[in-house]
Amino acid sequence: MPKLYGVIGDPIDHSLSPVMHQKWLRENGYDDHYHAFRVTKDQLEDAVRGLRALGAGGFNVTIPHKTAIIPLLDDIDEEAEVIGAVNTVINENGRLVGTNTDAIGFMKSLEEKGFAPEAGDSVLVIGAGGAARAVCAALAKRAKIRVDLTNRTPEAAERLSARFFNSNESAVWTLEEAEKRLAQYRLIINATPVGMSGFADALPVRTERLTAHTICVDLIYRPLKTRFLEAAEQIGAPALNGLPMLIHQGAAAFQRWLGIWPDTFNMEKYLLENYFQ
Ligand code: NAP
Repeated sequence: MPKLYGVIGDPIDHSLSPVMHQKWLRENGYDDHYHAFRVTKDQLEDAVRGLRALGAGGFNVTIPHKTAIIPLLDDIDEEAEVIGAVNTVINENGRLVGTNTDAIGFMKSLEEKGFAPEAGDSVLVIGAGGAARAVCAALAKRAKIRVDLTNRTPEAAERLSARFFNSNESAVWTLEEAEKRLAQYRLIINATPVGMSGFADALPVRTERLTAHTICVDLIYRPLKTRFLEAAEQIGAPALNGLPMLIHQGAAAFQRWLGIWPDTFNMEKYLLENYFQ
């Protein structure tokens, strides 16, 4: 019997997950179904009970439920524990187990382009919210790199830094302090929504001191080219948007449910041609 998969969140209308997973299901010979479900905060408990009762094979979880869902699950794995949020639930014979594939999705998107930091590299993360936590969890697994943080609210960055790094391998800067030091980084990652469609068309940090040897990554994928990535391109620095991370976190969820790593290369082409015109 075909199984049910899905994503729960609010808002959910513009989620690319149904398109992505439905395509991967068909490509891999499954006649299962993946649906987007708008679930408000006060419906979360009922929705999880419903998905459990229906025997859903698994589901993704997005804003605003990534943390609130944790007590409703039977267990969470180490990755979700470390990040403090769940973006994927696996139904293991009736037990709902939460995991988080954002960190693996982020690192795979870098590795695919040859942008992953190596021993001796310095990295700057802008932001200290959920996405920054996943980025830090991924970076913390790489040996001998330095990860500095900056955020509008420096206290949040202090807490994030203390959670993942030793104080001798991570500094926390105000935005102004970070702006002066941009040239010292091999990799800069914008993990704030600054530059996203619907948000002020702004820069997360002023980029006057950016140089061409710094790889610039923005987790935003709408628009594909934020002002931050535009500034990087203008000076000849390598730039990467958030679409590959979105695809790879989805692929990692698909693998957890079905044991198959799906085709991410053609998925990027497909989404670009059909959903970003
Ligand atoms: P979040 O938990 O709400 O955190 C937002 C962060 O951005 C906080 O550090 C916040 O600073 C900062 N921020 C928010 N508005 C700001 C502003 N106007 N000026 C300066 N800083 C501001 O959000 P999130 O879940 O981490 O998401 C961040 C971005 O990552 C979003 O654009 C999201 O779409 C993207 N994302 C992409 C993927 C992907 O697969 N590509 C995955 C996850 C997230 P304060 O601490 O001062 O509030």
